[in-house]
Amino acid sequence: MKVFVIDLSICNGCYSCQIVCKDEHVGNDWTPYAKPQPDTGQFWVKLLEEVRGTVPKVRVAYRPHLCMHCDEAPCIPACQRNAIHKREDGIVIIDPEKCAGHRNCIDACPYGVIYFNEDLNIAQKCTGCAHLLDNGWSKPRCADACPTEAIKFGEESEFAELIARAEVIRPEWGVKPRVYYLNIMKRFVAGTVYDPQQKEVVIGAICTLTDTKSGEKSTVSTDNFGDFWPKGLPDNGGYNLQIEKDGIVKAFENISTKNDVNLGDIPLT
Ligand code: SF4
Ligand code: SF4
Repeated sequence: MKVFVIDLSICNGCYSCQIVCKDEHVGNDWTPYAKPQPDTGQFWVKLLEEVRGTVPKVRVAYRPHLCMHCDEAPCIPACQRNAIHKREDGIVIIDPEKCAGHRNCIDACPYGVIYFNEDLNIAQKCTGCAHLLDNGWSKPRCADACPTEAIKFGEESEFAELIARAEVIRPEWGVKPRVYYLNIMKRFVAGTVYDPQQKEVVIGAICTLTDTKSGEKSTVSTDNFGDFWPKGLPDNGGYNLQIEKDGIVKAFENISTKNDVNLGDIPLT
């Protein structure tokens, strides 16, 4: 059974995956796998871009979003024409010749990846480039084109080690996606420490985050720019922060990581 494993730490947001998907499918008839994708309005691979934090502590998180080729795909039973099926290799296909345009699958898909083609009166989505896989290709166009090899495609057993470290989107939906993501960006708390008397940034200040619930501590030092930037924090965490250098201490209480946090320029006095 095939899987996608997408390493977001090496996705540079180049959009190649989105562009080559269009190159492969717009105007090309791959029946019985898919009818042509229209010129506009559909993204069988859509690169999601999220700006995180506030200036100057900003990060951009990219994530290619596509059909998850779920093992418990809600789109399949939703189709009253039995037009959607899962292949032996795990790929989920909407048969363009059976689809009668009822749109039930579009409502049933929790990931919002099925589009409606008004001209052809059919539902359409990523096919995993199954027409290529069945003709000698080892991977779909998006994986083939990714310059950083962030998108990997292959046998589940081949990627077992990566999958063990990966996450799926909204596992609580229980649909068992076959698209795994590595290094999904978590929350961060950032700031810049400076000495107002010396008018210089403070290098090597010890910044200790304490989880207000568990009491667990983690420590980072300010870098050569006076910056500290602990990452990988949970979505709804609460933290106390203590910054210390040469016996001078600055403290912040109850920092929420509901959003990414930029504490700005912090005078250490
Ligand atoms: Fe990211 Fe690769 Fe897609 Fe470029 S082609 S946006 S690096 S996943
Ligand atoms: Fe079906 Fe949506 Fe799952 Fe794809 S992501 S298999 S369209 S339910």
